[in-house]
Amino acid sequence: MDLKLLYDLQEVEAEQKDIQVQRQNSQAVLELKRIKRKFEEKKRIYLDLNSAAAQIKADLDAFPERIQQTELRLQEEQKAIYSSEITSARALAAREAQVAACQQKLAELSALHLAYMGEAQQKADQLDLIKKEMESLYREFRQKKAAALQQENVYQSRINALAEKQAALIEALCPEDLDWFRREEKSHSGRPISRMTANMVCGHCHRMVTSSLYKRVKGKNLCSCEHCGRILFIDD
Ligand SMILES: [Zn+2]
Repeated sequence: MDLKLLYDLQEVEAEQKDIQVQRQNSQAVLELKRIKRKFEEKKRIYLDLNSAAAQIKADLDAFPERIQQTELRLQEEQKAIYSSEITSARALAAREAQVAACQQKLAELSALHLAYMGEAQQKADQLDLIKKEMESLYREFRQKKAAALQQENVYQSRINALAEKQAALIEALCPEDLDWFRREEKSHSGRPISRMTANMVCGHCHRMVTSSLYKRVKGKNLCSCEHCGRILFIDD
C-alpha cells in the first residue's frame, strides 16, 4: 500500500474541506449576508408603510366629496330658512338645528382632513427616509460584493490547484488502495493516516509510540498508532 500517496491525498482533501469552510465563513460573505438581511428588513417595513400610506391616500381622496355634500346640505337648509316655506317657529327651530349640525359636521370634517393630511405627510417622510436607507445599503452591498468577488477568485484558484493535485494523486494510486482509504476515512474523520516523526511521535495525536511499534512501521508493516488508531507511516 502506498501510504505516502494516500497521506498526500488525505492532506489535499483536508485542505479542500478547510477552504470550503473558510469560504462560507469568510468575513466578506458574512458581511454581505448581514447587509442583505438588513435590506430585507427595511424592505418589509417599506412595503407595510407603503400600504398604510395608500390607505390614507384613499381616505383623503374621499374628503372633497364628503365636504362638498355637507356644504350642499348646509346651503339647502339655509335656503329653506330664508324661503317662505317655513311658517311655524317650531319648523324654523328645526331647520336652524339642521344648519348648526351641518356647520358642526363641516368643522369636524375639515379638522379630520387636516389630521389625515398630516399623517399622509408623515408617512411620506418615513417612506423617503427608508428609501434612502435602502439605497445606501444597496450601495454598500455593491461595494462589499466587489471585495467578496476578489476574495472568491483567490479561493477559486486555490480550489482549482488542489483539485488538480487531487486528480493526479487519484490517478497515481491503485484502485484497491483508494477503496481502502475511502472506507477508513469515514471512521477517522477524514484522516486515517498519520505521518510519524523521526523521534517516534505520531503526527496526528502527537504522542510517542513504543520503539517496537516504530521498528515495525520502519519495516513497512501496516500498523496503527496505539493512541489514536491511525495507520502510521514514515516519510523517508
Ligand atoms: Zn496517534
